[in-house]
Amino acid sequence: MIRLKPDNTSCIFCEIVSKRADASVVYEDEKVIAFMDIHPLGEGHVLVIPKHHAEYVQELSAVQQKHLFSISNQIIKAQRAVGFGEKGTNILINDGKAANQRVPHVHVHLVPRTKGDLFSSAFRVLLHITGLMGMVTKRATLEEQAAAIRASLDQL
Ligand code: AMP
Ligand code: ZN
Repeated sequence: MIRLKPDNTSCIFCEIVSKRADASVVYEDEKVIAFMDIHPLGEGHVLVIPKHHAEYVQELSAVQQKHLFSISNQIIKAQRAVGFGEKGTNILINDGKAANQRVPHVHVHLVPRTKGDLFSSAFRVLLHITGLMGMVTKRATLEEQAAAIRASLDQL
């Protein structure tokens, strides 16, 4: 049984878990779901979340944490195999509001980086921090990237 956020405010990630909101899904099992970030910090940016609603990493059991990171690691391999982050990835968790967490549901950001993208990457981080976020990436583009990563995961 998946616990949704236990108050009246909706959690967009719980909405994605329950399929009431759209997402370009890369991977899903009983415990976690991974999907393309709609305001990517880099091309191919994936978010990996527990299906169980929790705001802070510490609310997850050691087993849940291990699974979240193990799946994140597999997804990084799949991203690299299709050319996202071949030279490096930012693995990022904003754990709490003061740490710039805007969606209060644990998520691991897997942000593929490329050589020489410092300026554009820093600009996008600034948009996230200020809450401006920038343009959403077209659903068709996110679907295309998700399909490539999914196919690559199947080959691992
Ligand atoms: P954070 O600042 O760590 O809470 O990051 C939240 C992330 O969720 C941001 O990178 C957003 O672009 C992303 N995000 C918010 N809503 C959605 C959505 N509906 N689908 C995909 N990504 C989302
Ligand atoms: Zn939630």
